[in-house]
This record gives sequence, C-alpha cells and structure tokens, in this order.
Amino acid sequence: MKIAVVREAPAGETRAALMPDSVRALVTSSLTVHVESGTGDASGASDADYVAAGAQIERDKSELLDSVDVLVCVNRPSDHDLARLHAGAVVIGFLRPLDEPDAMVQLIERDLTAFAMELIPRSTRAQSMDALSSMATIVGYKSVLLAAERLPRMFPLLMTAAGTIAPARVLVLGAGVAGLQAIATARRLGAVVEGYDVRAAAGEHIRSLGAKFLQVDLGGIQTEDAGGYAVELSDEALNRGRDLITKHAMTTDAIITSAQVPGKRAPLLVTEEAVAGMKPGSVIVDLAGSTGGNCAASESGETAVRNGVVIMSPLNLAATVPVHASQLYSRNITAFLKLLIDDKGEMKIDLSDDVVGPTCVLHQGEVVNGRVAAALETAAR
Ligand code: NAD
Repeated sequence: MKIAVVREAPAGETRAALMPDSVRALVTSSLTVHVESGTGDASGASDADYVAAGAQIERDKSELLDSVDVLVCVNRPSDHDLARLHAGAVVIGFLRPLDEPDAMVQLIERDLTAFAMELIPRSTRAQSMDALSSMATIVGYKSVLLAAERLPRMFPLLMTAAGTIAPARVLVLGAGVAGLQAIATARRLGAVVEGYDVRAAAGEHIRSLGAKFLQVDLGGIQTEDAGGYAVELSDEALNRGRDLITKHAMTTDAIITSAQVPGKRAPLLVTEEAVAGMKPGSVIVDLAGSTGGNCAASESGETAVRNGVVIMSPLNLAATVPVHASQLYSRNITAFLKLLIDDKGEMKIDLSDDVVGPTCVLHQGEVVNGRVAAALETAAR
C-alpha cells in the first residue's frame, strides 16, 4: 500500500502532514510512504531526513497522486489534486466537511473515502489522534506571545532599583484547549490572569492554572451539551457575560478570546463599548476570527486599531509554529492510520469502531456521516 504526503498548497501554510519520525513508524515491507520533494521545507524536515526515515521522495506530484492509496494532508487538497486520485483512494486531513459541505461533492464524484481530522471524537481513547487539541494548544500559546509582543508593557511584576513594575493583567475568554493554554502561557510570563467561560467545569480548570475565574450568574441554564461542548446561549444570557467582560476590560491590558460553539457563529463577547472602555495601548487577540469573531471590532485576518486599542484577529496561528505543529499533527495522523491499517499493512476500515466511524465522512463516495449529510442537504437547498 502506498501512503503519500504532498506540499500543502494554501498560501501561508507551513505545516507538513507527516514528519520523518512518523514515516519511520509507518514503513513496513508492505507499506511505503511517498513524499513530494520539499514537503517539509518549512517545518524543518529536509528530503534527506525523509529518505533516512524510509520514505521515497517524488518530484512529479501528478504521477504520485495517480498511484496513491492513502493521501494524508493538513488542508483539503485542491479539486485538481483530488481529480487525480483513483476511485476508492483514502484522503485524511482537516477537510472542513461541516463548514464547506459543497467541497465534498468532488470527493463524492471521485468515489473517494474521506476522514476529517476535525471529527475525531474528544474521547479518552482518541486523545492521541485529537488534532484539534494539538493545534489549539499551539494557537493558545502563540496568541499570548502576540499580545506580549504588541503590548507596550512587560508581563511580569518586576522590582528594580528604579522602582516596581506592576504585572500585566490578562483576560482570557473561553477556556477550552486554546484558552487554557493561553492562561498557562500568560501565567508563565508573570501576568495576573482572569478567565471566563460559561461551562462550570472550565471554572475548575481556570483556577487550577492559578487564574481567577470570572463567573456570571446565568440562572442555572444548560450551558453544555452531552459531549462537553458549550451550547449557543440566548441574547439575555450572553448580555450578562458581556456586561461582566465590559467591566473587567477597563482594567485589563490584554484580552485573548477563544470562545466557540461548534457549528455556530462564535459568540460575540467583547462589544464596541467594551473596546471603547479599554486603556489605549491595550491589546485584544481574537482567536475566533474564522467563525465570525468574539470581538465586535475584529476584522478577520487583520489588525485593527480603535482609540489606541489594538485588535488582532489572526488566522492559522498554528502555521506560525511549523515544527511543533507538524510534529503533533503528524503523530495524530499516524495514530489514526494505525486504526485503519492492519498488521499486514492492508487497509481495514471498520465503520463500527467508535473513532473510525464518527471520523469517516465518505466511504467510497457514499456519505456516511449524518451531520455531513444534513449539511450537504442544507447547502443544496
Ligand atoms: P471550543 O473550541 O469548542 O470552545 C472554546 C471554549 O469556548 C469552550 O471552553 C466553550 O465552553 C467556550 N465558550 C463557548 N461559548 C461561550 C460563551 N458564550 N462565553 C464564554 N465561553 C464560551 O472548545 P474545545 O477546546 O474544542 O473543547 C471543547 C470541549 O471538549 C471541552 O469541554 C473540553 O474540555 C473537551 N475536550 C475533551 C478532550 C478529551 O477528553 N479527550 C480533549 C479536548 C477537549
């Protein structure tokens, strides 16, 4: 069987879907790994590193795609690349089947089998494959460095001969994987940190990292679904949070926002009024830009300035840390591949498996995921 990895096409993408360590763990007498030349250039893995790990370097991408059985990727391959794959070939990566269901049509027409890494269940068994968490960890870390770099103050409390410097005050909104990593990173840099989330369990996590949990009284409403994700709140409930955030924003130097509700627009938490009340020089890093933003003044992918407050809304922050983002992603992909491939190096897709089944979007061109089928139906209307 032939597994292939090619250079990621989107502008600004630096990650590679498989790194040499993973290649070493995959190659056997019946399983070969083929790497397009230059795939690891931006993530610190040269062609020679891949060869040393047992991969074969390919210079002609089209030829490689014509004969591949499994194509692993970070981003969904272009329609042009997908068109070269043979019927029944397997594609694994962040395929965005729920955000962009229309894009699945090309895979359906080619009779491909597709697994979306964003659909890996957040279960204990699937932890080693949880690529969303891997990327969110990097994004949370990097968001704080962006804020620290832009802030005209230092983060730690310093007692110097010239007097004492007060620590920066950081507010983190949304305490999932990215938010908790942002809290931990800001604490390591010495900031005084507050965290806000609507899930009660997040309060414990925030406190355990040495931050203060900002709690809002939502009158005991359900804020979490059975899977542990936050649910969409009513405007009234959201307003209670916004009021609290507006008050705390006045004394905060940096706000990191990471609140998301799966499948919905990101909740608006930082209003224009809150931004107007912040001190000039303060910084907001909005990590929800791709789903509409948590801050009213955010411009997705851009940096805006309002009354001296800098509002950044970076997209694909994980790609700014390509070595570790690729390493983690590659390990997630490899752990998942090991569920699909048997000891003899043959593909055995068991859709009744509690990780393989939910992650599978298409099996030989058939839509097998209910959520994706519904998204496709809505898109077709
Ligand atoms: P996410 O990206 O979906 O959302 C980020 C955070 O935003 C969440 O903490 C959410 O509660 C919060 N949020 C949503 N609406 C909000 C609002 N109006 N105000 C404030 N905050 C709001 O989250 P995620 O990082 O993908 O994690 C989702 C869940 O999965 C969490 O419960 C997490 O603990 C869990 N998880 C479990 C595992 C595992 O067990 N293997 C791994 C990773 C995550």
